[in-house]
Amino acid sequence: MAKHIFVTGGVVSSLGKGLTSASVGMLLERRGFRVRLQKFDPYINVDPGTMSPYQHGEVYVLDDGAETDLDLGHYERFTNAPLTRDCNYTTGKIYQTVIQKERKGEYLGKTVQVIPHVTDEIKAGIKKLVNDDVDVVITEIGGTVGDIEGLPFLEAIRQFALDIGKANILYIHLTLIPYLKAAGEMKTKPTQHSVERLRQIGIQPDILICRTEREISQQDIDKIALFCNVEARAVIEERDKDFSIYEVPVSLVDHGLDQLIVDKLHLKCKPLDISDWREMLVRMRNPAHEVQVAVVGKYIKHNDAYKSIYESLEHAGIAEHTRVVIRKIEAEEIEREGTERILSGLDGILVPGGFDYRGSNGKIDAIRYARERSVPFFGICLGLQCAVIEFARNVCHLADANSTEFDHNTSHPVVVMLDEQFRITDKGGTMRLGSYDCVLSPGSQAHKAYGTVDVKERHRHRYEVNNQYRGQFEANGLVVTGTSPNGKLVEVVELRDHPWFLAVQCHPEFKSKPTQAHPLFQSFIHGCVRRRERK
Ligand code: GLN
Repeated sequence: MAKHIFVTGGVVSSLGKGLTSASVGMLLERRGFRVRLQKFDPYINVDPGTMSPYQHGEVYVLDDGAETDLDLGHYERFTNAPLTRDCNYTTGKIYQTVIQKERKGEYLGKTVQVIPHVTDEIKAGIKKLVNDDVDVVITEIGGTVGDIEGLPFLEAIRQFALDIGKANILYIHLTLIPYLKAAGEMKTKPTQHSVERLRQIGIQPDILICRTEREISQQDIDKIALFCNVEARAVIEERDKDFSIYEVPVSLVDHGLDQLIVDKLHLKCKPLDISDWREMLVRMRNPAHEVQVAVVGKYIKHNDAYKSIYESLEHAGIAEHTRVVIRKIEAEEIEREGTERILSGLDGILVPGGFDYRGSNGKIDAIRYARERSVPFFGICLGLQCAVIEFARNVCHLADANSTEFDHNTSHPVVVMLDEQFRITDKGGTMRLGSYDCVLSPGSQAHKAYGTVDVKERHRHRYEVNNQYRGQFEANGLVVTGTSPNGKLVEVVELRDHPWFLAVQCHPEFKSKPTQAHPLFQSFIHGCVRRRERK
């Protein structure tokens, strides 16, 4: 029978429940268990796909095309657990199902209510991950204990213990122990109150993970244990990491979390082995090179809007023994200040995915700078589309070339809406989403990086390169080196006479891990190091 771990959060948001859940998943995997992870988000959007990155940060895309919360990115970077659309539920998605069932008459005769109908649907979502190949399911509950919208989820996980027996369940509560400078003390009261809220609902946490800036004294640990009704050894300190988030699992091991979970769930397992992870951290601390890479985007001010891009650059740096300093550049700043001022001295330029016109000219200017100055350039999704527009305008002399996303009336629509998108009017979940095959040209930069010509990558877009212009681009030096297997969709373009200039329609950043950098990111960073050395 599968065991269940529920992770809740208290006191404040942004405590890093996703990272902690991912770390717990990783430690259990390294103990030999087959783990699954999922997240419940209490907001009413059916998925985060329609939300602005300012609201929500990055939308993380899975192989099956699900648009999910960015915490699922942590799950994939820390573990090998397969993720599907059953790994992210929102209040909206749960209610959508309940309401569809009601319309079909599946509750005929009954009054449909939060308890039991909504809570049953939540529990069904948890049970969907259970099968014979799964030992532990980790379910993260988004939001903060005490929020009105989180209540049905907490009620559901309370009931879950009645359904399958408390011995098969562990409740982990993540909380904050603030340090009050004026008092010169750590404060445990917010934690006490948040646990009290949980206990009112009927959930007694088994383990408290305490986020803190400073070391928590034994005296404070004992106090938290007593007031919150948990064992002292189950009060685990998780101190802020100033070096890297990838230190989190190691520090949780140092505080005994993996052994504690194994003991509490009465699991038999092998000893923990995270030697490769520790080696990765040593490598990260001792780089042989340093490069500065510009990420030119539209949502730069939001820390999480390009989360997976930043992580992938870091992973590539680890693989290339290189410290990657990321310069986050607002595209509109380039429009105001000019490329020379903003971009000179940098070793590489990356233009990530995005939507809409704002900032597009800044991105295009940045790409022109990279092309003309032989600076390594990596374009991703909208980054590819902007590279094509730049090339059309400045090399092929198609002065008003554009994407029809930015200008419907352009006389040279070099980027146009995908055929399959023409008749779609709904916004949610209607792009070309998820994993698609791509075939690379032998000998191309992309082929050299991947080491194979058949690749699969995740997508999230509505527009594509207009095939009518392909001949003109290729004749002038922008070569299509990757397409869909039927040859119809442009997937990769490369510049012929340039040290490293490559753009992809897919999102490779969703498939990079700290211990296994994505080949394209690694090759890009390699190119940046070579440029730095030439300088
Ligand atoms: N807005 C572009 C499109 O829909 C690019 C999308 C993206 O970068 N993810 O095709």
